[in-house]
Amino acid sequence: MTETSSPLTPYPSPSLSFEFFPPKTEKQVGTLQRSCVELAEVDPEYFSVTFGAGGSTREGTARTVLDVKERTGLDVAPHISCIGAEPDVILALLRRYKDNGIKRLVALRGDIPSGMGTYGRLRYASDLVAFIREHTGDFFRIEVGCYPEFHPQAENAEADMQHFKQKMEAGADAAITQYFFNPDAYFRFLDACERRHIDATIVPGVMPITNYKQIARFSDACGAEIPRHIRKRLEAYDGDLDSLRAYGEEVVTELCRKLLEGGAPGVHFYTLNRSRPTLAILRNLGLPEPARVDETG
Ligand code: FAD
Repeated sequence: MTETSSPLTPYPSPSLSFEFFPPKTEKQVGTLQRSCVELAEVDPEYFSVTFGAGGSTREGTARTVLDVKERTGLDVAPHISCIGAEPDVILALLRRYKDNGIKRLVALRGDIPSGMGTYGRLRYASDLVAFIREHTGDFFRIEVGCYPEFHPQAENAEADMQHFKQKMEAGADAAITQYFFNPDAYFRFLDACERRHIDATIVPGVMPITNYKQIARFSDACGAEIPRHIRKRLEAYDGDLDSLRAYGEEVVTELCRKLLEGGAPGVHFYTLNRSRPTLAILRNLGLPEPARVDETG
């Protein structure tokens, strides 16, 4: 960190949440077990665990949720997606979560892996939210996804806003954004919501930068724009991982600083199961840091 390193007056208790994916190998299991314990020390509101496209990690998601909950004692929200899933499979999953004391969900449409299946009865996230409310009432707190730079499949910007509104009206409690690197995108989105009388709590989703090729690939797929000046600097660090990570940390710290100073209620970090990049950003922001961080995390 260079010019962004001065600690700030702490923000008024921003809500922090940390997203994980279900680990696939023993090594990944170990990394996640360390990361969740280290991240728990900054007292997040909750963790969340993603759901593989087409339900491919249904069991892994449930197992990871219960493991993280047991290790940290904190709330953990499974992501659950509906596209291509049978309603009775979703019901069984909801029952299992309810029986295990899970009280919040991140409800998504998801994406169908190419060449696999059809849409099914629950085609959009708004259908899933309505279905969860129909069958479980107010038991779960439900977060949904939203897109300050618009969803890549939206017919147009206005249609995307209206679909987001529908999703909130179907019974969602709050929303987490897709990640972005331009803070103006978030504030413009909040203004656009206000104009359409969408008064949901909208937490910005933030992706730490640790690997240029990976972030370029993700961003191309999900429609998140990497501003040209950032892309060019990241490209220039090809092969120099330390410089890339230091610059990535600076960029994302500055993004979080602008979001929180502008009134964002908190930050949802897409951690990719690593604690260190997220904790470094929180430290730069002057937010609580844990006593001990494993250097491999
Ligand atoms: P929706 O809200 O259903 O929107 C999808 C598209 O359909 C949009 O273009 C929207 O404008 C359009 N649309 C919505 N309703 C209608 C309608 N009634 N008529 C016509 N068009 C409509 N993916 C995973 O597979 N697993 C995860 O764990 C996961 N976690 C995520 C977490 C967050 C915070 C976010 C932001 C995304 C996540 N995703 C995940 C990605 C997500 O599944 C994809 O972005 C997916 O393509 C859209 O999901 P959604 O819930 O936003 O869909």
